[in-house]
Amino acid sequence: MNNKLRKIVLRAASAVMATLLFSSAFVFVPEKTPVSSLAADANVQKYENEIAALEQKQKELEALISKSQSEANQAAQEKAYLDNLIYVIETKQAAAEKLIEELKAKVAETEKVIAEREKQIDVTNEKFVERMRMAHENGNASYLEILLNADSISDFLSKMERVNAMLDYDKKLKTQYKEEKAALEQEKADLSASKELQEQTLLQLEEDKKTAEVQAAKAEKYYNTLQSDKAAYQAQYNRAKQEEQKLDAQLTAYLKSLQEQNSSQVTATGEFMWPLPLNKGYISCYFGGRDPNSAPHYALDIAIAYGTPIYGSNDGTVLKAEWHYSYGYYVLIDHGNGRSTLYAHCSSLNVGAGQQVAKGQVIGGVGSTGFSTGNHLHFEFRVNGVRQNPLNYVKKGL
Ligand SMILES: [Zn+2]
Repeated sequence: MNNKLRKIVLRAASAVMATLLFSSAFVFVPEKTPVSSLAADANVQKYENEIAALEQKQKELEALISKSQSEANQAAQEKAYLDNLIYVIETKQAAAEKLIEELKAKVAETEKVIAEREKQIDVTNEKFVERMRMAHENGNASYLEILLNADSISDFLSKMERVNAMLDYDKKLKTQYKEEKAALEQEKADLSASKELQEQTLLQLEEDKKTAEVQAAKAEKYYNTLQSDKAAYQAQYNRAKQEEQKLDAQLTAYLKSLQEQNSSQVTATGEFMWPLPLNKGYISCYFGGRDPNSAPHYALDIAIAYGTPIYGSNDGTVLKAEWHYSYGYYVLIDHGNGRSTLYAHCSSLNVGAGQQVAKGQVIGGVGSTGFSTGNHLHFEFRVNGVRQNPLNYVKKGL
């Protein structure tokens, strides 16, 4: 039998024992129950209470363990999210840094081109000034010279045009360089602005990273706290479980000793009769077997037709003839000498509490009331309140 099943069976067994020992004690207390039987009930009850309390404690600790675990999982998830966030920020930082380097290089390159243009402007300017100076100094002479060297008026005019065109060209070139320089200056300003923007972005990223790192550290610390809480709960749980196992073992031993102690007192007498018509029905569960709920069975179950008359097994006084949630309608007869018999799951009762009954008198009809899965008589034989195997006292009628 595995541990869990063993535990369930033990639980059911001890619960049934405790309930039934207790209820029988209650019935017999006024005159007939010996002191030892009372002590037994109290002991079993005490074990049961302690075990139940330990089980409750384990249940509570299980809830705490599971709560710590689920919170720890959440904290771990948060930590993983933040770690990933930090990684993303670092990637963005690297990209921003690279871009800043590129922009710096481009600014430097643009500055170089601007310097070149400035130089070209200066050179063009000097050339222009030189040409102007020459044209001025030569004055009309140069024109005269051109004129004199000209073959004709049209040749003179075309030579004049060339001089003017040269001056115009220099002027245009200078303007073009100036425009180019202005465009480059604008480009440089744009590049610098982009670079500044990236630098601001980088600062923001550094701040974000710091925040994420603080949060990640917090999440990790919380995770560790939860893990140590969980370990503490687990240790408490293990202690409670061990304690319960110890008590389970003690209770099992105690119930066994109780059984042995009582069985040593019994002797079959044969004076009690079979409680049903002879050779009818069959035994569906023996004493010491397992009932349909797999609890230990401290009675004899005889499956037989609905309404079959049930006979009082011996002379006696009816102690109980009433409803019970588990027994259904049942009769308990006190036969004196510490002996009593119980008849459960009846469909009808023919006797009442306090009534004297004779051996063989019909006390009720077979049924399936209470915790029962079919028509049968649940027959108990008790000696000093402890249930014994009915077949040790009653000759089997089948
Ligand atoms: Zn039964």
